[in-house]
Order: sequence, then structure tokens, then C-alpha cells
Amino acid sequence: MKQYDIAIVGAGMAGATLAVAVDHLCQGKLNIAVIEAYQLHDEQRHPGFDSRAIALSYGTAQILKQLDLWARFEPFLTPITDIEISDRSHLGLADITAQDEHVAALGYVVELESVGRIYQQAIRECTSIDYYCPAKVKHIERTLESVTVTLSDDQLLQANLLVAADGALSESCQHINIPLNEIDFEQVAVIANVTTEVAPQGRAFERFTEFGPVAFLPMSEGRSSVVWCMPEARAQKMMQATDDDVIAALQQDFGWRLGKITKVGALACYPLVLRYREQIVSHRFAVVGNAAQTLHPIAGQGFNLGIRDVFSLAEEITQAYQEQGDVGNYSMLSRYRQRRQQDRELTMSLTSCLVNSFSNAWPAMRVGRNLGLLAISYLPYLKQPIVKRTMGLVER
Ligand SMILES: Cc1cc2nc3c(=O)[nH]c(=O)nc-3n(C[C@H](O)[C@H](O)[C@H](O)COP(=O)(O)OP(=O)(O)OC[C@H]3O[C@@H](n4cnc5c(N)ncnc54)[C@H](O)[C@@H]3O)c2cc1C
Repeated sequence: MKQYDIAIVGAGMAGATLAVAVDHLCQGKLNIAVIEAYQLHDEQRHPGFDSRAIALSYGTAQILKQLDLWARFEPFLTPITDIEISDRSHLGLADITAQDEHVAALGYVVELESVGRIYQQAIRECTSIDYYCPAKVKHIERTLESVTVTLSDDQLLQANLLVAADGALSESCQHINIPLNEIDFEQVAVIANVTTEVAPQGRAFERFTEFGPVAFLPMSEGRSSVVWCMPEARAQKMMQATDDDVIAALQQDFGWRLGKITKVGALACYPLVLRYREQIVSHRFAVVGNAAQTLHPIAGQGFNLGIRDVFSLAEEITQAYQEQGDVGNYSMLSRYRQRRQQDRELTMSLTSCLVNSFSNAWPAMRVGRNLGLLAISYLPYLKQPIVKRTMGLVER
């Protein structure tokens, strides 16, 4: 049986960041096992590092800098200097700019396929991390002092702490019966990369329509990454439509802020369900990232919240290691749970509130939210808390 200080299940954005973060903060002194079900270039597409592009907030960038990962990301990033939030065919409009916030960029867009390669390389370079892939967890057994994991090929690993970073449906959480709450938004996110007549040049857009929100994020080569939310029936129609029909519908929803949409790449679909676990710790067990909460992508907060789980847990593990060496003890886990409670609750409720109010065609609601957008624009005391959370500048 192989012995580790920590075993992490799942090496997507959250699990891979946690492995590198603990290695960095504890200066390679802890032995870490990372268990991942899919190889990066498997015929089955990797669920963590697929064709999506995501926005990393300013706060996430600060964390990645502290972990010495930022330099690896830099060649693949497109800065966001301006975010425009609007409601289709209505007056309300809010604008957040890097200039007003006195930062070089509000956030950065990165393609997950590139991030997958960055993490693979970073993990390979850490001699204290063993990477088990492709592998799954078949059985988990906990005693007072340790947790023993049986892998799909019957290998046995023993650790002081097991971390679930295996995504929304987390099989490891299922193994130890941590309940999952689900709210189906009855929407699907259709994603695609598009080229437009006018290059976005750092501008991101969030536009609310009667079908759901549509977001454009600036990418390299003048492209934009689109997250287009809509009811499932419409999404099915879009998946089968010609490029010209997709462009016409998207142009109708998004408008002409970037001129004509000239090209659309392959479409992919993601059902939108809020999934969260109230309980994120158990005996010798912690939960991070999408396994703890999977958000609607409306405000681009999923990983930006997940990395705050990851960094808080990595800091608590480091403190426990420095104090008495047992990195899976009860007080470490309870400090982690307490530190994460408020941020998780606020970010989940802000995101759900946006979905509910902006996906509603009821006239009074439309008037209310347009007044809300105007108020956010003109009243700094309303705007600032929203801007701070969007930028990931929140207490952990
Ligand atoms: C359309 C869309 C747009 C988004 N845009 C943004 C954005 O702009 N900004 C942002 O911050 N977030 C965004 N998100 C959310 C973000 O992508 C996720 O929060 C983040 O990628 C989740 O990472 P994770 O590692 O927690 O989970 P996952 O990506 O689900 O990774 C889980 C990992 O565990 C592995 N795994 C699963 N089961 C097992 C098992 N049994 N054993 C071993 N390994 C297993 C998987 O292969 C995977 O590698 C978006 C999401 C969507 C759907």
C-alpha cells in the first residue's frame, strides 16, 4: 500500500490547482497522489479541459501569481478591459472598466485545452506528486488516523486526507454519502467561438434576452468565445441548424456591438443545473471546486469561486503541516469549512438571483431589472460590491 499525506480525486482545474498549490506552499515536503479518470488526449474528451474558454477574474490571477503559475498562463491569456451588461431592446446598461477600477485588466480569458497542458507540465515537474491516470476510486475506507482508497485497478493508496475535486457529480462524495442539492435552471448553455467584423479588443459583453443570457468573451486573433443560454428545445434546434442560421439567431440575440458575426465554430452544449453540497468536509475528507458547487456560467464565477476553495484549503493544509504534521485533522477541516461558508453562499445566491431575474420576460421584472442596471451604473455604493465580487476581490 502506497502512503501519502494527501490524495486528490480529479485533476481538472480545481484538483490540479490544489496539487500544485500544496506542493508550492509546503515546498514539496508533502507526498501527494492525484487520481484522474481521463487522459488529456483521450478519444473520450476530457471533461475538465475541453473546448471551452473561461474568464479568470482579477482575484484568480492574484492567486495564480502567488502560486508561481501565472507566468505559464500569460502566453495564453486575452485581457478583459471592459464588461458591458445590457438587456436586449431595453435601456438599462451597466459598464465596468479596468480604467475605473484602476487595474490593467478586470480579468483574462483562457482556453481550457491550453490550461490542461499547463497543469500536466506543472504536475510532472513536482517530484512529490504521483499522478494516477487513467484511474478511478472504487472504494473508500476511513479509520481514525487515515483514509484508504482502492483504485479501479485494485491498487491501494493510504493518505491522511482525501480531497474530492472530481466535479459536479463527484463519485467520491457519493462513496461517503455526502448529499447533493440540485436546482435545474431548465436552460442549456450553447458554446462556440465566433469571428466578428469588429474585433472585441478586450471588450466582454453580457446581454440578457427573453431566451436567457448571452455572453461574449474576447479571445486571441480577434475572436470571441460565446456562452449562449437558452431553453433545451431551442438549443437542440441550434445544434442541428446551418452556420448561417446559427449566425442569424445569435446576431438577433446579441445585436451589432461587434458588427456582423462572420464565422461560427463548432457548437457544444452544457445543461445548466445548480449543484451544491452544504457539507464540504467529513472525517479526513474535504470537497473543492465543482464537486462543492457547480454554478450557472452567467457571471463566469465557477472556477473563480472554486479556486478560492482550493487556495483556502491549501493554506489550511500548510498551517496544519507546520503545526503538527497531520494534514487531515479535524480542526484543519473545520477551519476550512468556516472560511468557505460566506463566500460560497453569497456567490451562489448572486448567480442564481441573476439567472432568475434576467431570464424572466414578465414586464414588471423587465422594468425592475433595467432600473437595476441603471442604478448599478450611477450609484457607486450599489455598483462596487458587485464589481468586487465579479473581479474576485472577496474575503476567503
Ligand atoms: C459553458 C461554461 C462556461 C464557463 N465559464 C466560466 C468562466 O468564464 N469563469 C469561471 O470561473 N468558470 C466558468 N465555468 C465553470 C468552470 O469551467 C468550472 O468551474 C471548472 O472548470 C470546474 O473545475 P473542477 O476541477 O472543479 O471540475 P471539473 O472540470 O468537472 O473536473 C473534474 C475532474 O475530475 C475528473 N473525474 C471525474 N470523476 C472522476 C472519478 N470518479 N475519478 C477520478 N477522476 C474523476 C474529471 O475527469 C475531471 O478532470 C464555466 C462552465 C461552463 C459549463
